[in-house]
Amino acid sequence: MASTSAARGTVQVTVLGGGDAFCSGANLNATYLVESARSTFLVDCGPSVLYALKKQAVDTARIDFIVVSHLHGDHFGGIPFLLLEYMYERPRTRPLVVLGPPGIEDRVRSVFRLLYRDVAARPLPFAVEFRELVPEQPTTIADVTVLPIRVPHQDEDTSLALKLDVGGTGILYSGDTPWMDRFFELARGVDLFLCESTGYDNSMGKHIAFTELQPRLRRLECGRVVLIHLGREMRERGASLGVECAREGMVIRL
Ligand SMILES: [Zn+2]
Ligand SMILES: [Zn+2]
Repeated sequence: MASTSAARGTVQVTVLGGGDAFCSGANLNATYLVESARSTFLVDCGPSVLYALKKQAVDTARIDFIVVSHLHGDHFGGIPFLLLEYMYERPRTRPLVVLGPPGIEDRVRSVFRLLYRDVAARPLPFAVEFRELVPEQPTTIADVTVLPIRVPHQDEDTSLALKLDVGGTGILYSGDTPWMDRFFELARGVDLFLCESTGYDNSMGKHIAFTELQPRLRRLECGRVVLIHLGREMRERGASLGVECAREGMVIRL
């Protein structure tokens, strides 16, 4: 894998949860903390987000915004708990921006109402600004540009892979998706590719199987590949895979 010329030493990615929907191998649901000179944000926000943040001693108040890849519960189900945190435990006044696929606002508000009907009936003491991501249209927030790419993981909802430019550092996040050859092009030159590999020799529905990813790894022209969203069999094989696998608390400096 080739090295890249992007700016170094300014971006840090912490794996708060690198697991699949089943918390296989006791790994928390998908939640990644990205910190740059100007931004602190989450990529996906699994239901275990508060536990994950507090376990890594991250002050929840530091989160500027959240980018959601798709509307499956293991990727956005933590947002209602974060809203609750900001109402009571760590009172927030500044706006929270949530970027995600079409329908994100309705889905988050619906889940919040279902989980906390009494609380959700009252106005939040801070603004939540939802921004819908449109595939192929880059969106910029602070020093981060998000390029959403539609992936064939869901039929009725829109699932996205996310290519992030974080102040000059490139991160490609596959989200949940089957393999697409377009990842070769998208990964070219990025510093980090967080690539899902849910199954070992079975794509577990609309996901990537490691046996189809493995022969393609050497063709990826990016700085570093870390496998994410690992299912039970992948966790059991662990170190024998010979590839970096996301684990809780893992810090990736770029
Ligand atoms: Zn998932
Ligand atoms: Zn999913």
